[in-house]
Amino acid sequence: MIEAGVASARDGAGRARRGVVLSGAGGSWRVRVLDDASHVEASLRGRLKRDSSGERAPRQGPGDRLKLAVGDEVLVEPDARGGAWAICEILPRRSRLARRAPGGAYGERIVAANIDQVVVVFAAARPEPHPRMLDRFLVIAEANALAARIIVNKVDLVTERDARERFAAYERAGYPLHLTSAKRGDGLAQVRVMLEGRVSVLTGPSGVGKSSLLNTLFPGLALRVGEISASVNKGRHTTVGATMIPLPNDATGFVVDTPGLREVGMWALSVEHLDTCFPELRPFLAECRFADCTHTVEPGCAVREAVTRGDISGKRFESYLKLRSELEEANFQ
Ligand code: GDP
Ligand code: ZN
Repeated sequence: MIEAGVASARDGAGRARRGVVLSGAGGSWRVRVLDDASHVEASLRGRLKRDSSGERAPRQGPGDRLKLAVGDEVLVEPDARGGAWAICEILPRRSRLARRAPGGAYGERIVAANIDQVVVVFAAARPEPHPRMLDRFLVIAEANALAARIIVNKVDLVTERDARERFAAYERAGYPLHLTSAKRGDGLAQVRVMLEGRVSVLTGPSGVGKSSLLNTLFPGLALRVGEISASVNKGRHTTVGATMIPLPNDATGFVVDTPGLREVGMWALSVEHLDTCFPELRPFLAECRFADCTHTVEPGCAVREAVTRGDISGKRFESYLKLRSELEEANFQ
């Protein structure tokens, strides 16, 4: 199928090559060509800028409603005018991270495409982990149908048993838990294996050791990682798009830097589907007396019964309620 795409993308100017979009700014996209790992700057062929409706997408701001996103797999070919490259085909996406279009505009905006997993990093201590913030990241992953896992770093500051107990509700909900110490080296081999060959959004609060982990695992990534911390945590650059960072040396994966994940991600959620974004609630949803049960006040609510029995963590359920009222407030503004 890909071969056919390559053949059809030839226009006499040269052979089309397969690549991944790393970043984009002002209509120019940086593409990593897969067969030789070279990077080229390319523009999008005019016909690809149209919506699937055939209409040219109206531009509401930088990058809005563009058909192309960071992470997209594309075919590039040398432009007929020489020197420059053009993106002549966008290959089908296997996943996406989206947020609602800014400024109340209709539709959604793809932040990044083809993400394999969201890796949320927290520290066992210093800074103290905030479960509600973790829940937020996980809900964003779930709302985008992306697999999520949790790294608890700095286990050298507590006992491993304490760390595991603190995050037990997440493991029970089905999230893989990795206990690490960038300082002592614990758990690093496992993290390396889980990042390799995949496209991972790495996120988490400031100071938990994201840079330390990546620098220890992949020396050479050093310079770029500063950008992850700066953009994700300080909430600046919220209008700047995501960037794909190839893992160095023989590693084949990518780490995606998505600015302001915490803030912008909440936007794309609907109150009605929030319950499905908590995996441990899902087995009970069909058991509630009312099909549209909000699990707040309704009689015959199987979710609240499960919380009372201890089958669902009370803390996680509180998080659900908190996020629910936040989303309701946001929707009435
Ligand atoms: P980031 O903001 O998430 O990128 O966090 P950094 O990698 O900059 O780390 C923040 C601080 O935590 C630094 O002072 C690191 O030296 C320290 N740190 C990182 N990993 C560990 C760890 O596993 N154990 C301990 N004790 N400190 C760590
Ligand atoms: Zn219910």
